[in-house]
Amino acid sequence: MGIDIRSMTLEELTAALRDMGEPAFRGKQVFTWLHRGVRSFDEMSDISKPLRERLARTYRVSGLTAARKQVSRMDGTIKYLWELHDGNCIETVLMRYRHGNTVCISSQVGCRMGCAFCASTLGGKVRDLSPGEMLEQVIFAQADGGVPVSNIVLMGIGEPLDNFDNVLRFLELVNHLLGLNIGMRHISLSTCGLIPGIRRLGELELQLTLSVSLHAPDGETRSRIMPVNRAYGVDELFEACHGYFDKTGRRISFEYAMIDGVNDADWQADLIVKKLRGMPGHVNLIPLNDVAESPLKPSRRVRQFQQRLERQGVTATVRRSLGGDIDASCGQLRRKAMEQGREEREK
Ligand code: SAH
Repeated sequence: MGIDIRSMTLEELTAALRDMGEPAFRGKQVFTWLHRGVRSFDEMSDISKPLRERLARTYRVSGLTAARKQVSRMDGTIKYLWELHDGNCIETVLMRYRHGNTVCISSQVGCRMGCAFCASTLGGKVRDLSPGEMLEQVIFAQADGGVPVSNIVLMGIGEPLDNFDNVLRFLELVNHLLGLNIGMRHISLSTCGLIPGIRRLGELELQLTLSVSLHAPDGETRSRIMPVNRAYGVDELFEACHGYFDKTGRRISFEYAMIDGVNDADWQADLIVKKLRGMPGHVNLIPLNDVAESPLKPSRRVRQFQQRLERQGVTATVRRSLGGDIDASCGQLRRKAMEQGREEREK
């Protein structure tokens, strides 16, 4: 199988090549090729053939191959289903906005957080993604889409703070001057609220945007739809968010999927206002994506809820939905592909 070379930092590559008797600049050369998106050592045309062969004996260049691609007829959103080197599948979404293109990447194969409304968690977590596998999602989507990627959101399958070290290394790689050089301010990371991870991230004072999946401001409701709340309660979560803002000065974005009769009452809007006092938060209201396996239904009070927040001074937007015709949200494609695979095996 070989070592996943695209997960290595420039320093590690340089040291490894030096150990193979190569000059110091060789690391830079190989790093640059990797971040330009080669799929094999043979594409590294300024590296000698004997060295390419030696590298190929120890390292593996590519993990991802495109298993399926869907393009939205409505808005040009592209959804990729990738097969990983071990046969697992993940997905990536490329969204086209006027201000640039955004890639939404996965951070794990599946998820163990168990949110009641989310399709990605239905089969549990299979494994973490490596930094290189996250990077390849960006590089390959950019190459295939034929347009430079300006923004990255870690909002695909998985809980990024449950894969903290690999995510951090991915951020360093994608931010590297010799790599894609995507600025931290163009990266958003979304978490269901793993408080130790939020604290650790705050300590690093990165300039990225933290999104917190709130979905309910009261413990009772939140525990009902998000099991993580039983380990890390919502009041402690708000405290951690205030701490994060005080430390980094970065405004947090709160994700809020509007669910009929569950989290869309006026008192819940008022409670959000109260909990955010002292911190410039932004609430992103998401019309719930209907997941067939779930009894939860989309709220009809999205606009009223938004107005109630706005009237009390909390910025609230309603997320525009892209790729609606290609199930470009919340693990739906992988889920379908898994089911089809199962049906075919059972035939
Ligand atoms: N694990 C991370 C990131 C992945 S989910 C997190 O929880 O934030 C990305 C966002 O989509 C999260 O805000 C998640 O709560 C939301 N989401 C999941 N399923 C959804 C659904 N059916 N409708 C609307 N939003 C959903």
